[in-house]
Amino acid sequence: MSVVVDAETDHRRAVEAVRRGLAELPPDAPVRLRKKTSNLFRFRGGEGGLRVEGLDRVLSVDPVARTADVGGMTTYEDLVAATLPHGLMPLVVPQLKTITLGGAVVGLGIESSSFRDGLPHESVLEADVLTGTGEVLSTTEHPDLLGGLPNSYGTLGYALRLRIELAPVRPFVRLRHVRFDSAAEVATALAEITESRSWAGERVDVVDGTVFSDHEHYVTVGEMVDTAPYLSDYTGQGIYYRSIQERDSDFLTIHDYLWRWDTDWFWCSRALGVQHPVVRRLWPSRYRRSDVYRRLVALDRRLGLSQAVARRGGAAGVEPIIQDVEVPVDRLPEFLAFFHDEIGISPVWLCPLRQRDRRSWPLYPLDPDTTYVNVGFWSDAELSPGQAPDHHNRRIEQVLLGMDGHKSLYSTASYPREEFDALYGGATYRELKARYDPDGRLPDLYTKTVTG
Ligand SMILES: Cc1cc2nc3c(=O)[nH]c(=O)nc-3n(C[C@H](O)[C@H](O)[C@H](O)COP(=O)(O)OP(=O)(O)OC[C@H]3O[C@@H](n4cnc5c(N)ncnc54)[C@H](O)[C@@H]3O)c2cc1C
Repeated sequence: MSVVVDAETDHRRAVEAVRRGLAELPPDAPVRLRKKTSNLFRFRGGEGGLRVEGLDRVLSVDPVARTADVGGMTTYEDLVAATLPHGLMPLVVPQLKTITLGGAVVGLGIESSSFRDGLPHESVLEADVLTGTGEVLSTTEHPDLLGGLPNSYGTLGYALRLRIELAPVRPFVRLRHVRFDSAAEVATALAEITESRSWAGERVDVVDGTVFSDHEHYVTVGEMVDTAPYLSDYTGQGIYYRSIQERDSDFLTIHDYLWRWDTDWFWCSRALGVQHPVVRRLWPSRYRRSDVYRRLVALDRRLGLSQAVARRGGAAGVEPIIQDVEVPVDRLPEFLAFFHDEIGISPVWLCPLRQRDRRSWPLYPLDPDTTYVNVGFWSDAELSPGQAPDHHNRRIEQVLLGMDGHKSLYSTASYPREEFDALYGGATYRELKARYDPDGRLPDLYTKTVTG
């Protein structure tokens, strides 16, 4: 087991510092984290916050037990860099490099291993949590706290250290991009792959999908392998999502596979011009990363540039539609038909998801016997005169309600309180809040994620 003793000592000091930081904040000061990066799409921030330096490290990796002890603010980029040399990876690695383990557990995460391994919180063995009372509690003694962390967005407490399971990997991934004309065929294929963990007689270790239009869908299945006849590289001039339309099969290193979507933020770098061959050549490769693009988008929101351009073009404004939603796989064709018809954003990302075990996660309940598909879309839509600024996002919420679906809360949400409580375990949340943050020192979940 590789343990860095200094890291343990540093971690204890960092825990003490953040605990003291919370205790010393004036009682009426809002509590928030002061982190270098974020993947939230609610740009409501503010100055100040709890300093969390020293909680962003991998403390140890145990290659025999296949576990890692990790500071709560550690990015997946650093986590993967620590585990891959041991031939291991976290069971689910969200696609954006600066998503942190703590953020993915309390704010949910998903990736192409989720059809088998569920969501990142399902492979957390234990966590130390700084609660609203200012205590650092272990979830080993408080299992209900672990159960309530997913989808709590730091409103019950902050995960300072987590022990997670790891899974073995092979050095390369062989990809097959399989085209389907109709959404119904895609839904059938995703359901079948999730059940059998194979496609056309070959093992599937990872699977996701990309929709370019109502008649052009791809399911990408991957198998981890020990050798590769050639390797592609999409961190340079090549662009991964375009390769899906251009080739039937491909080989990537496991490292490049895990970060395939980060270089171009799926396809969202297009809006910033980064996919234009001239701009791409001039844009330094170290800045071809999702966190750089997100900072640029945050700047645009602050300056209101896109809104101004849309208004000059005659629209009533633009509505950012940055969402990941979940629908049962058999409702996928219906959801996509609505989406193409009324929202019209493309491409769209698909990722099948099945809960790993039968445990209940009350704040983001899923039926363990149902295969869901995560549908991700991240762009703007123009508003017509008279439409409310959240017109399209609210419409998506309403359609989801009728399909037994719901959405992640990392972006904007407009749910009325009763709908929100029914979808996200409101009664259980209130019990946990009364137990772990009785004085309401931390924000309330509805206020934090909906009303702001
Ligand atoms: C365009 C886009 C696409 C996305 N696509 C995906 C995707 O495909 N797959 C995926 O997995 N996720 C995706 N996400 C969502 C992302 O995983 C979540 O937003 C996640 O919560 C971000 O984690 P972070 O570490 O950046 O946390 P932050 O953005 O810093 O914080 C998120 C929230 O969690 C709280 N928090 C952060 N760390 C802790 C902690 N240690 N303990 C308690 N609370 C904490 C914060 O207070 C905050 O409320 C996407 C987001 C965007 C914007």
